[in-house]
Amino acid sequence: MRRRVVAGNWKMHGSTATIERLLDALVQLHVPNTDILVFPPIAYLSTVIERTKGSGLAVGAQNIHAEPSGAFTGEVAAEMVKDLGATHVLVGHSERRRWFGETDAIVAGKFAAALRVGLMPILCVGETSAERDDGRAESVVMAQLDAVVATAGVATLRQAMVAYEPVWAIGTGRSATPADAQSMHSAIRARIRALDAAVADGLAVLYGGSITDGNAAALFAGADVDGGLVGGASLNAGQFENICRAA
Ligand code: PEP
Repeated sequence: MRRRVVAGNWKMHGSTATIERLLDALVQLHVPNTDILVFPPIAYLSTVIERTKGSGLAVGAQNIHAEPSGAFTGEVAAEMVKDLGATHVLVGHSERRRWFGETDAIVAGKFAAALRVGLMPILCVGETSAERDDGRAESVVMAQLDAVVATAGVATLRQAMVAYEPVWAIGTGRSATPADAQSMHSAIRARIRALDAAVADGLAVLYGGSITDGNAAALFAGADVDGGLVGGASLNAGQFENICRAA
């Protein structure tokens, strides 16, 4: 059976004081058979890693640069994130694709960089509302998936996860229906199964997009939904705990 995973993406939110308060609650959190991950802003990565040592939480970065070092002012290498003690990294989040011009090729480069240093990437894929309205949701998501699998190779998904995050559901309060989420997750798994059945069976595919403690259980009930990537609700310890328990 695949393990359950719930990941909290804190985005560009928080301060030393609010993160301390959030961690006071989160370090107590233990949910059987569920991996709980948090993705703080890079400024707090070290603090969160130190504070969560010995707890059940794993900590990841929201972004990395593909190059190991160099003249890239303001960027952070996968090597540095690994050196701090992080274990995971988000790649291809729609906010990175939209606001920072990340193409499939850039995302593939970051995915490879994560694997190079032993960080587990969570590859985010998802369609916009216009693409869904045009009936192109599945083809867009498959193209984003294929772009990474074609360069990295299907076997690399043994050390990775995929998050299906419809862009129109992120931060909008309008989540996908459980049926739509399950349908896309099943399509993602089938795409990988066509290349390697064992990889497909072991792959954690998370849903993301306006998960709350009110809709988590229904979304997580899908046979191919292995947990969630949670934005807004992960900043509230009580909500996040309920979502982890729903997994
Ligand atoms: C996200 O940022 O990945 C996300 C899913 O955000 P939210 O839960 O706020 O929609």
